[in-house]
Amino acid sequence: MPITSRAAIVRAAPGEFEIADVVVDDPRPNEIRVTMVAAGMCHSDHHMMTGDSVAGHLPMVCGHEGTGVVQAVGPNTPGWSVGDAVVFTWIPSCGSCRWCAGGMTNLCDRGRYLLAGHRFDDEGSFRFALPDGTDVGQMCQVGSFSEHTLVSVDSAIRLPAHVDLEKVWLLGCGVGTGWGSAVYAAETEPGDVVIVMGVGGVGINAVQGAHHAGAVAVIAVDPVEFKRDAALSLGATHAFSDMDDAADFARSITNGQGADRAIVTVGVVSGEHVAQAVAAIRKGGVAVVTGIAPDSETSMPISPLELTRYQKRIQGTIYGHANPQADVARQLQMYEAGMLKLDELITRMYALDDINEGYRDMIEGRNIRGGILF
Ligand SMILES: [Zn+2]
Ligand SMILES: [Zn+2]
Repeated sequence: MPITSRAAIVRAAPGEFEIADVVVDDPRPNEIRVTMVAAGMCHSDHHMMTGDSVAGHLPMVCGHEGTGVVQAVGPNTPGWSVGDAVVFTWIPSCGSCRWCAGGMTNLCDRGRYLLAGHRFDDEGSFRFALPDGTDVGQMCQVGSFSEHTLVSVDSAIRLPAHVDLEKVWLLGCGVGTGWGSAVYAAETEPGDVVIVMGVGGVGINAVQGAHHAGAVAVIAVDPVEFKRDAALSLGATHAFSDMDDAADFARSITNGQGADRAIVTVGVVSGEHVAQAVAAIRKGGVAVVTGIAPDSETSMPISPLELTRYQKRIQGTIYGHANPQADVARQLQMYEAGMLKLDELITRMYALDDINEGYRDMIEGRNIRGGILF
């Protein structure tokens, strides 16, 4: 039987989140319906609301980070049971496309319709609807801003039963993206000097990743003092409020060469940010672009000659080059061993009804990461 659920939907962009009743379908083969425990309020959901990222279908239930408990399992869905604990991954991985088979599940072909709202296998297929029958999309085919959601098992990672679902939802996006940006995309090595531009929910995990990878200096850059303080307590060795000071400092400790890596994790990326990162790195260094730029941003003021002459590299990354099915298990082990900090990243949990307040707090710099507790 389809069930009714309260959800935060976006009807028009730019707009606000609106709490509304939606009808959640029954799970089909290889699908599970999940009763949510917690959801993360990522900047990417806000990009859908502002229209910086264009939703393929409105209304849409946003939210792509979250944990919950399986409430119903579709027919012919082996390996899943009612009661299983689950964390979502915002890019589904099919396990068999060229990218999945090559160990790059973050590039799975099923990611093609991430912002389209419909199912990856059928452009007319939705799992949420308004009570009047209007189709409702799901961001990243997840839609975690809802008391109940329905996902493909390709978007779900089963967790051990003992895990605290109120804490580990960050493993589904912010941790993987930030940590992977430093460890995989930037290829940070022991002794490196690494600049992290913007230490919100993603950047703070790039700080942790750079620290784990053995960076000798992790330089956090953020205009917000409490975020700089948080970064300093989670692996950053230095913190600055602006990029010029951070780049000057990196040069001062590298005999004038510059940082080995710079990672762009600001909330709304511009070409200017990427140019600052490229200017801050040494010869042969890497500038990693992790944060999301508006669709309308189409140029970067960077000298092509600088790339050639100094052999600098600009490396884009989605989901921090992560393989979530493998990485989440590893990160969970690091969390339980006390290496990877999660509890410290969660500034505040909100009720679903207070989601707009939560996003205002994020935009105004009061949160490292806010979440919704159902
Ligand atoms: Zn996210
Ligand atoms: Zn795939």
